[in-house]
Amino acid sequence: MNLEELKKEIKRIVLDTDAKLVGIGSRERLKDVPPSGNMDYCLSGAQSCIVWAVPNPIEALENYFSKKERMSLKRAQQIGYAGSWRTAVIVSKFIEENTEYKAFPVIPNAKYRPREDLPDYIKGDIRYPDFSLRYGAVAAGLGHLGWSGNLVTKEYGGSLYLGGVLTTAPLVPDPMAKENHCNKCKLCTKVCTTGYFSVDEEEDMQPVIIGRYKEIYAQRGTFSQCGIGCAGWYGLSDDGTWSTWTPGHICLKEFSLEKWYDRNFRRDLYAKIFSAEDIPENIKKFNQTIAKSFGKAGAMENVGLRPFTDTNPRCGNCNFICVADPKKRKELYTMLINSGKVYLDENGREYVKKLKEEGEEIIYYPPTEEEFFTKEEFDEIDGIRKIK
Ligand code: SF4
Ligand code: SF4
Repeated sequence: MNLEELKKEIKRIVLDTDAKLVGIGSRERLKDVPPSGNMDYCLSGAQSCIVWAVPNPIEALENYFSKKERMSLKRAQQIGYAGSWRTAVIVSKFIEENTEYKAFPVIPNAKYRPREDLPDYIKGDIRYPDFSLRYGAVAAGLGHLGWSGNLVTKEYGGSLYLGGVLTTAPLVPDPMAKENHCNKCKLCTKVCTTGYFSVDEEEDMQPVIIGRYKEIYAQRGTFSQCGIGCAGWYGLSDDGTWSTWTPGHICLKEFSLEKWYDRNFRRDLYAKIFSAEDIPENIKKFNQTIAKSFGKAGAMENVGLRPFTDTNPRCGNCNFICVADPKKRKELYTMLINSGKVYLDENGREYVKKLKEEGEEIIYYPPTEEEFFTKEEFDEIDGIRKIK
């Protein structure tokens, strides 16, 4: 099989899954990026990265932001992560079984390089992935980094999941995207309840140059800010009117960046999440369940292997909101700020409390996992991660 046939066949395999975009990037384009774009770390002599994108369905996003239900997005996220991991393994096997080249399936999330010992005052608890799929996606021509730091594509915006494979095969790279489709609407900063990234300041820690393009994105805070918000331990808007999918009603924006850089502050905050005396038992249990779920993906060092029951998007807002159509993005934002807050009843079940336009308060219970999925559907989605 020559290189052109190989490239064609790889793309066919990828696009036969839920992935909607796929491209090839080269070693040359990644030569000036920060260390997590160095393919040799994962596969010595890698020449190409194959990167694809699995977008979130719009209806799932509407239901998620309006707090109608979060199960459709749970399904999309499992397909995005576990499906991408599965595809990466299949593509890697295909390359190695049909050519003399080596291949490496990239773990889509939850795998980080051992941390270099940076002092806390520089970036708190910064972590780097083995290979940055975002950098790879830019090199592969899928798009550019948006203000959020996520990849933004022309076709699907940034509301998507990335998967990828590295290979020693010197495939011909696809053209890089000419335009950056982030329109700087900054809605990604508005939907974040933690202040993880800046509204105005650009990140200047290290230049990200891919091909001949310099990627510009917002200055980041500490990993813990997003970690706590994304996990769903805390998530409340600064005006207190809406929450993420969590009963943890504290707005993390109230803490200064200096505090976040302080190891003792972070330690005390985590202690409060799990053991503070004034936290009701049902919330403590909820927080511990999240910790177990995240612990599983962390212990496996691969979110693609996480059981479906443990996939529970409760934030991720900066990524989810960034659909391609700016009008739809605004609609999703309006849904979110009118979506009310999530609470837990004494049995630990989540419910939503919000005000209708006329000012009347309504309370309802969104469907649980058991109510939303049939057993067959649940098992089928859960089965994606069990690669034979
Ligand atoms: S939400 Fe707006 S500002 Fe943020 S990355 Fe997307 S397009 Fe850019
Ligand atoms: S995932 Fe949530 S908490 Fe993390 S940066 Fe995005 S919006 Fe903020």
